[in-house]
Amino acid sequence: MKKLVAGNWKMNLLPSQVSDYSKSFLAEVGKLDGVDLLLCPSDTALPAAVEAFRNSRVRVGAQNMHSTRSGAFTGETSGEMLADIGVTHVLLGHSERRHVFGEDDELIYAKLVLAHKLGLKPILCVGEKQEQRESGSTEQVLREQFEGSLGRVSNELLAATIVAYEPVWAIGTGLTATPEIAQQAHRFLRSLLGEKLGEAASTVPILYGGSVKPANAAELMSQPDIDGVLVGGASLKPDSFAAIAKATL
Ligand code: PEP
Repeated sequence: MKKLVAGNWKMNLLPSQVSDYSKSFLAEVGKLDGVDLLLCPSDTALPAAVEAFRNSRVRVGAQNMHSTRSGAFTGETSGEMLADIGVTHVLLGHSERRHVFGEDDELIYAKLVLAHKLGLKPILCVGEKQEQRESGSTEQVLREQFEGSLGRVSNELLAATIVAYEPVWAIGTGLTATPEIAQQAHRFLRSLLGEKLGEAASTVPILYGGSVKPANAAELMSQPDIDGVLVGGASLKPDSFAAIAKATL
């Protein structure tokens, strides 16, 4: 499988900055066909990003969606609205959604099911907090998050999902998991996938996220169960995000 390099702009970059970003980024990566590329801008920058990356190798994803199709949910964006403008992927259960906005596995599960129904490819994020790692409960936390969402969908939908391992202590902190720590967690997630999917578990991409930079991306992605990366801060500049994409080759 090709590596997937995905960027999460979080609440950064304006719609008016998308055009310059896309020109610089595509100049660097437009011809790299050994890697899959995805960018997840803020909701207001999505239409500009869909337009700027049309006919390119870069797909555009959203950072979140509501758990229902439509209705009286002031301030929310539905997956149907995202799909309608040409968004192809959606991040679900990002640690900021879980720990800043209080999303639980039940809600994330509902979003996962709906994303698949709407034809949006979900990237479902899991990961332990620092105190959970320190107390030795990383695998228990990953199992609970897995069983609360991913483990409840049909095998067909599970096999069509992208998983992202993002240890909370490594997100936006500059503290990257060592390749060994990341690989250990990825191997564990692969074994959870294997309990449901058997051999087909090897076809589900598991991305690593947490302070990925050009300097550490290649080593992380050389691990056998790391199929790509989900990049926050280092995706905000087209040159550093392009350098991470090139690190897959
Ligand atoms: C993220 O937002 O998913 C992330 C991993 O952020 P950062 O790369 O900045 O740690």
